Amino acid sequence: MHAPSSDLAGPPDVYVQAAPPPPPTQDLQERRHVAVAVIGAGFTGLSAALHLAEAGVDVAVLEAKHIGWGASGRAFGQVVPYLKLGHAAILRHYGSERGQRVVDAVAAGPDLLFELIGRHGIECWAMRSGLIFAAHSPGGRRDLEQRTRYWQQRNAPVEMLEGARCAEAIGSPLYRAASLDRRGGNINPFAYARGLAHAAAKAGATLYERTPVRALTRRDGLWAIDAGIAGLSADCVVIATNGYTGDLWPGLRESIIPMRGHGFVTAPLSNNVRHTILPERQSLTDTRLLYSGVRMLPDGRLHASAHGPSFGAEPRADWGRVDARIRRMFPQLGTVKWQQAWTGWVAMTTDHFPRLHELAPGLYAGLGYNGRGIAAATMMGRDLAVLARGARDDTTVFPLTPLRPLGWHRVAPALVRGLVQVYRVRDMVDEYRLSRAA
Ligand SMILES: Cc1cc2nc3c(=O)[nH]c(=O)nc-3n(C[C@H](O)[C@H](O)[C@H](O)COP(=O)(O)OP(=O)(O)OC[C@H]3O[C@@H](n4cnc5c(N)ncnc54)[C@H](O)[C@@H]3O)c2cc1C
Repeated sequence: MHAPSSDLAGPPDVYVQAAPPPPPTQDLQERRHVAVAVIGAGFTGLSAALHLAEAGVDVAVLEAKHIGWGASGRAFGQVVPYLKLGHAAILRHYGSERGQRVVDAVAAGPDLLFELIGRHGIECWAMRSGLIFAAHSPGGRRDLEQRTRYWQQRNAPVEMLEGARCAEAIGSPLYRAASLDRRGGNINPFAYARGLAHAAAKAGATLYERTPVRALTRRDGLWAIDAGIAGLSADCVVIATNGYTGDLWPGLRESIIPMRGHGFVTAPLSNNVRHTILPERQSLTDTRLLYSGVRMLPDGRLHASAHGPSFGAEPRADWGRVDARIRRMFPQLGTVKWQQAWTGWVAMTTDHFPRLHELAPGLYAGLGYNGRGIAAATMMGRDLAVLARGARDDTTVFPLTPLRPLGWHRVAPALVRGLVQVYRVRDMVDEYRLSRAA
């Protein structure tokens, strides 16, 4: 086994080196006024900026670090037509009418994303070969069968893979059943973020990097945006800071629980091994409670998402655990040479649904994707653009809800750590049963 070199500080080299060049950005050197200021340059902020600029709105994006630096540049890369919870929970949560709108829009999320990628010529490994969701337990299999039936009744290209077909599609003897959903796909998320930024700039948006916003103040019917020596005023502000939300607006940070997600990649695999793993280049997740993603990158590296330390500024990459899991799944790998590890903040909400808020007149925020934000944040950006142009929330996918800071936010890390331990034990028991049955 080989320990990976760690690049915990930002998007990983494996994404950055395969991305288009950085988009044109400017320095904010003097005060100016814009119609809409967007804070944060991930998928939410960039999609909002692109949709606004395409509608002819004067929009500026202010990013504390650089384009795609947050979760967007570090995601696993799976473009899913789902939220964290399934259609039944969505209908219960939003009610039947609004819920159906959310279910349908989320199912069409990959269409939106791949259409943007195609229209703007974004080079980001975009591959719409589908997603495999494998059953790691009898309960997981029942859930997948139910979900597959629901989508088949709606003529979606979703099917169950059983027995040898399942083993062949994954390249692993471990799983007996899986659902193949051909609506989804995979991307290089950092390259997608840069591509969105290029498209937004081309449509007329101004992009400011290394421009952390320190404060927002309402003055004479406008928003004054304090961004250091210079600053902006805007008619409307969109906060798109998700798991990286600080103290810009009272209670916003306390309304979500940022939890770390981790990514690991190997050195390129040998030619004969790489073709045995996910040969049709779908990505795989299974039904366990903690992270389980596996995919092959275009240059033959294996990429795994994994659970590691959930909190802390510079957590140690927990690669021993991911190594053991991957070698159990793919015994043909033998020794695995891990090369890079990274981590980013995933914004969780207590009910697992995203949030769209009007925090004050002309001040909006969209966040809390629970690790399903590549398509959902792109959709949320579109919703935020609709609201920033003055429409009401009966035209958006997600409804506006009041901001609800969590009273127990301070102790959330301790509670979540406990919950993760329970999940870990449950996953370990299920995985032991699965490997005994294989
Ligand atoms: C390891 C990992 C794996 C994931 N895998 C997947 C996946 O496979 N599929 C999927 O659908 N989703 C996945 N997600 C979730 C997805 O990446 C996020 O939901 C999505 O990227 C959120 O985008 P965003 O634009 O809202 O936030 P971010 O991309 O986090 O962007 C927020 C930005 O705001 C900036 N910012 C913060 N404060 C300020 C300020 N005061 N001034 C200026 N700028 C500021 C930050 O620097 C940051 O760049 C994953 C997330 C992680 C971390």
